[in-house]
Amino acid sequence: MGAPPLAVVERLGVEQVPLRRETGFRIVPSESSAPAATMVAPDSATCSDCLAELFDPADRRYRYAFINCTNCGPRFTILARVPYDRANTSMSAFAMCEECAREYLDPTDRRHHAEPTCCPACGPTLRLLDAEGRRLEGDAVSGAASMIRDGAILAVKGLGGYHLAADATNEAAVGALRARKHREDRPFALMVADLGSARALCTLTPEEEVLLAGPRRPIVLLERRPCAEVAPAVAPTSRRLGLMLAYTPLHHLLAREIGRPFVLTSGNVSDEPIAYRDEDAEARLARIADGFVVHDRAILVRADDSVTQSFRGRELVIRRSRGHAPAPVPLRICGARSVLGCGAELKHTFCVTRGRHAFLSQHIGDLENYETLRSFTDGVEHLCRLLEVRPGLVAHDLHPEYLSTKYALSLEDVETLAVQHHHAHIASCLADNGHSGPVIGVAFDGLGYGPDGTAWGGELLVADLTAFERAGHLETVALPGGVRAIREPWRMAAAWLDAVLGDEVPEDLAVVRRNRARWADVVAIARSGLASPTTSSAGRLFDAVAAIVGVRDAVNYEGQAAVELEQLADASLADAYPVPLEASAGRRQAGPLVLAAGELVRAVVEDVRAGVEAPVVSARFHNGLAGAVVAACEALRARAGLSLVALSGGVFQNRLLLERVVTGLESLEFQVLLHSRVPPNDGGISLGQVAVASARDARRRR
Ligand code: ZN
Ligand code: ZN
Ligand code: FE
Repeated sequence: MGAPPLAVVERLGVEQVPLRRETGFRIVPSESSAPAATMVAPDSATCSDCLAELFDPADRRYRYAFINCTNCGPRFTILARVPYDRANTSMSAFAMCEECAREYLDPTDRRHHAEPTCCPACGPTLRLLDAEGRRLEGDAVSGAASMIRDGAILAVKGLGGYHLAADATNEAAVGALRARKHREDRPFALMVADLGSARALCTLTPEEEVLLAGPRRPIVLLERRPCAEVAPAVAPTSRRLGLMLAYTPLHHLLAREIGRPFVLTSGNVSDEPIAYRDEDAEARLARIADGFVVHDRAILVRADDSVTQSFRGRELVIRRSRGHAPAPVPLRICGARSVLGCGAELKHTFCVTRGRHAFLSQHIGDLENYETLRSFTDGVEHLCRLLEVRPGLVAHDLHPEYLSTKYALSLEDVETLAVQHHHAHIASCLADNGHSGPVIGVAFDGLGYGPDGTAWGGELLVADLTAFERAGHLETVALPGGVRAIREPWRMAAAWLDAVLGDEVPEDLAVVRRNRARWADVVAIARSGLASPTTSSAGRLFDAVAAIVGVRDAVNYEGQAAVELEQLADASLADAYPVPLEASAGRRQAGPLVLAAGELVRAVVEDVRAGVEAPVVSARFHNGLAGAVVAACEALRARAGLSLVALSGGVFQNRLLLERVVTGLESLEFQVLLHSRVPPNDGGISLGQVAVASARDARRRR
């Protein structure tokens, strides 16, 4: 007999135990294992057995939206406290009927000790409400499906929060959803019933099919078919679609009755966290939704959908949330104390350790408002309660203004430790691979606070878990206007063009003409250094090039220009712009290498002026930057004696850059560590922080 579908074998051990001299066969209750060793399971998609029952007219749970069993169903999102017993979940409000209780107690039944088990006679019920919250008569699923088919936007209560649903083939409905949600052009995720429907929209590799159909059911980013029948407003600027398969019984019922792909996006207005409490959802979504599909099983923990993609047949997670959280990542080195990692700011997560396990939280969101901050601080308390730990060591980012840093420094009776942002990125990649270094770490991202007070973001570190040295970085430039430069990539173009060409910036360049009114001001800001920190950011270099190429001058979400620049590239091209390596102007002989990206910008400008097409410029840019990374690693191998490279930071979600860098490094016989289970973006920072803090704690004890 195989292990149950959701079982995870962590370790195999052999142990001698004294004979007990039992003579008959009986089932005895477990001897209480140490309570502090309980693991909290992630939520899991409806299993195939439950799915068969759901659509079997003879089954007593036929079309019952809350069917689940030992092998599937809600876990983390319904759990108030440990141990994981029904009484400690939001199912405590429902007394099991006789038949459910019989199954629950029967060791041969699939629902033996399935804590959230229920049926139409005893479990939660579904209701369909109109926009004013009045209950609509009739079957809730059929009513909801026909409303969606008719172009309505419905709020649907899910596992970890409310979603908004709309017919993905209906341009007017999807457009209305964008307008009401204030979401300009960031792609919406789609839900489909099964793999067959997914194949009709996107080309799938076998690995992508496994990701789609696995028990975690993340949103998978996939290459869309040109003929895919999806309204343009779903993903206006993207060659890819984010698809997920139905993962709760309610989704399966809806997907089957709607009969076509539907948008299923988080229930919120633009940047707010996803709504998960009923009253809150009804208040916040009333102006967006034409109706509500609700039920009376409370969601106790907010959890967004996870997002993932496949790279070279391996998973490369982008957002690790529902279905993952709170499954632990094992640490190679740990001290005696429980450690809390407070994360960074954008795509925030936190992380708590117990023994050698690092429990990474679900996605919290961008820590920029009170609601997400509350979600973070409440989340820390909740997870510590579930794990029965009190962290004595608290790791945080170096950035003094991050809310996560301020939170860490406000805690009493704990020791705090600042971990540099890019060191945390590399440590998280090491932890993701069960490695402890030393390694050449390439951390390319948007921005992170450097120990010298400048904004780092194109870093080559020689690092292990306890320490790092900045061994190289991208050429630096001004960040004119600070955070405004993130929202307006043309400002980065102005900074780079001024740095490279000074007063020789060609007036006829399109990016200059488009922004002529403010160009001189921004250049003056960049030169003055006022409100213009110095940065070595790789993400901002992508922004600058995207603006020069004409992709866009302003973005609606972080990284948008870079994503669009990547999608534009003609990946069949191999030629590249030059990026010389220079020794930095420091006095020390072995100062950091500088990747002279200015040469690359100069070449972009020449090509754009010569009328070279954007897909060609984009490809040459990607290839040039990748070549520079590979050359820098080669130079550092000679210097540091290391042939192991770790790639981290949000820029390495770019699969074209990643492909070129990995291919280049492997051709030089480097061993390359990539992210897989933990995102390369700032969602992985909290894990990196605890990996560093734990390793330092362990070293100190020795
Ligand atoms: Zn099941
Ligand atoms: Zn029942
Ligand atoms: Fe970062």
